Amino acid sequence: MDLYEYQGKELFRRAGIPVSAGRLAESPQEARAAAQELGGPVVVKAQVLTGGRGKAGGIKLANNPDEAEQKAKEILGLDIRGHVVRRLWIEQASDIAKEYYLSITFDRGVKKPLFMFTTQGGVEIEQVAEENPDALLRLHVDPSEGYQPWVARRLIYGAGVEDPSEQKQIAAIVEQLYRAFIEFDAMLCEINPLIVTPDGTVKALDSKFTVDDNSLFRHPDIAEMRDTTAADPLETFARQKGVTYVKLDGNVGICGNGAGLAMSTVDVVAHVGGKPANFCDLGGGGSAEGVVDALEVITRDPQVKSIFFNIFGGITRCDEVARGILEALERLDMSKYSIVVRLDGTNADEGRRILKEAGKPNIHPEATMLDGARRAVELAA
Ligand code: GDP
Ligand code: MN
Repeated sequence: MDLYEYQGKELFRRAGIPVSAGRLAESPQEARAAAQELGGPVVVKAQVLTGGRGKAGGIKLANNPDEAEQKAKEILGLDIRGHVVRRLWIEQASDIAKEYYLSITFDRGVKKPLFMFTTQGGVEIEQVAEENPDALLRLHVDPSEGYQPWVARRLIYGAGVEDPSEQKQIAAIVEQLYRAFIEFDAMLCEINPLIVTPDGTVKALDSKFTVDDNSLFRHPDIAEMRDTTAADPLETFARQKGVTYVKLDGNVGICGNGAGLAMSTVDVVAHVGGKPANFCDLGGGGSAEGVVDALEVITRDPQVKSIFFNIFGGITRCDEVARGILEALERLDMSKYSIVVRLDGTNADEGRRILKEAGKPNIHPEATMLDGARRAVELAA
């Protein structure tokens, strides 16, 4: 789950990382009031779940409440790469002497958190990595050892930070960021830029914070931060139903049991020239209940024409899935959809027999994944 900048900054604040004072605003009037309350110049910042807001015109300086209201008018409603701005973060403006970059993410390859730090912040980090790779310090933390003070020292000296006061402040932030990363079960915490003000204060001017979805059960306060209005309504509906679903752009609905098989099915449908409408993982059960829920989600997408069930029975029994599909057809009106079913593995013969005996004209059995994909694509045309 990606957090908005202001939410990430709230977690930074709780972790002790310095951030500027700010207020949330959803209208130009609220922006004006926020600027008034904060006093002095403010930055009006679009809250969208994508980066590069500055370049897209989503971040503007305002010298007084009048200007804050005006800038808010300009930014609200702006479309930043498909994300429409509905919220603003109004923050006390900072003077910037230097822009650094600090992040911690999870390096799955080596199964350790990875710090990255450079004094060349402000710009996109990919650019630094490409043009000036030596300036980007990378350091893994062994989770069984936990955080050790030398981690920050190595980052700071390695990047060439020379000012002792900066060194001290950054060392504290590195440690706080590590603790935040662990405590909040984050996948990514990024500060770009981490600034130094002209009077030598170091603070986080931006926040990119991603929390592991699987840990949200133990962070109810973070789970509540989810903005359901920003998410795809279909995906929100799927989440409510407990269906693992990702909306895609095509017309062939896809349902597999197991994430790997479902992903391969998406690939195979694309490979034979079709356009997958979604990714959907039925999971291990394949009960009628699960099938009904999945079909309800898939058929909410008006683009869907055909649906391809690709089932490889292991723990999942094909007869169970076949019964699930038939029961779903009784409970939902599926008459306008062609449903291609490929059953293989545990109890596949029985599953096929059950489907055949039901004699539904819109169910099309196929023996292999490739034939099933071709058929589903044909029927969607
Ligand atoms: P991003 O473009 O989505 O990464 O948004 P940021 O929050 O990183 O802001 C983009 C840029 O706006 C920063 O790199 C800064 O140069 C500038 N900026 C943001 N806040 C302030 C501020 O308080 N004062 C000044 N002078 N510039 C700011
Ligand atoms: Mn940034």
